[in-house]
Amino acid sequence: MIYLDYAAHAPADPAVLERFCDMERRFTANPNSGHAAGRAAREQMACTAEQIASLTGAAPSEVIFTSGATEANNLAIKGIAQASRHIGRHIISTPLEHSSVSGSLTALQERGWEIDLLSISRDGTVAPEEVHELLRPDTVLVALCAVDSELGTVQPVREIAELLAGYPNCRLHVDATQAIGRIPVNFSGIDTMSFAPHKFGGLCGSGVLLKRSRMPLEPQMNGGASTTLYRSGTPALGLAASAALALQLACEQRENRCAIVRRHSERLLRALSAYPAVHINSPEHAVPHILNLSVKNVKGTVFQRALSEKGVCVSVKSACSADGLPSRAVFAVSRDRRNALSSWRISLSHLTTDEEIDAFLAIFDECYHELVK
Ligand code: PLP
Repeated sequence: MIYLDYAAHAPADPAVLERFCDMERRFTANPNSGHAAGRAAREQMACTAEQIASLTGAAPSEVIFTSGATEANNLAIKGIAQASRHIGRHIISTPLEHSSVSGSLTALQERGWEIDLLSISRDGTVAPEEVHELLRPDTVLVALCAVDSELGTVQPVREIAELLAGYPNCRLHVDATQAIGRIPVNFSGIDTMSFAPHKFGGLCGSGVLLKRSRMPLEPQMNGGASTTLYRSGTPALGLAASAALALQLACEQRENRCAIVRRHSERLLRALSAYPAVHINSPEHAVPHILNLSVKNVKGTVFQRALSEKGVCVSVKSACSADGLPSRAVFAVSRDRRNALSSWRISLSHLTTDEEIDAFLAIFDECYHELVK
């Protein structure tokens, strides 16, 4: 099998798996319990939060563990909106967001919030000037991804954070799920930031929300006191500790890992661009891990199935939105519905080998000649 779907899920790093097992063996109590074993587990949770905080520029008290980025995005977006409803009900976001962001916004819209989506330029980015134009006295949140999952576009988060520093009523939520390990990520100037360690060598079922301290946020789960006010339930120490290690490895090895990925990506780009029916959708300055393309007049799902039958795993839209609609992100950059319907995504890792790229290109060639008339 040739796995080229690392933006959907990356295998757990062996050291991360080992950390998980070690934690589960050593700490057997509930960190919320008042006895000595509970206190030991709570102290270990605190060390884990410190590690995540030091790698992201947050304070340890600003780290909230969740079950994934989906939960972290829901908590941040709904939690901020509900806690600021006395100020206003206007939110700014983008058409590039993962369904856990766009779905949270739709749920709020159905309950009376007003959502404005920024336009996307041909290079896949939003313009801070447009954020400025859309800001109103009742705007309480700007929510956007640092890197989008379909095209790999890097958004001007820093510039938007600087702009919003002048608007104390408006919060900034950044979905950093596809950014960690790909670009430098720092929490400074941001109010909430989410990510999911299983995208960079951590385990599924764990996620992180960084939340600026003292910023009001309405919890989305009730009952069950925990190590944080904002997310009840027994803290999952093994998952949290493995998330911290995965983050450490992703940050420490980012440049080396990116250099490997860039080499593969440049090779793929050169080879695939030579096919007359191929259109590359990922903008030039996208992260090299994500390469989105369309093969003219062949639906993305059809090309994906053909590749899958020959042992290649790629993805159509985000793995999490199986609604059959054309990709909003690809439509935003190409303004072409047919092109958006034909799009699919290759996503690479430092674990990808030259041999896999060779084999992929040979299989792509076969599928292309079978499907392009
Ligand atoms: N945000 C982005 C940008 C993503 O790519 C994903 C997953 O693909 C998520 C959020 C949701 O992550 P999870 O399914 O781990 O909760």
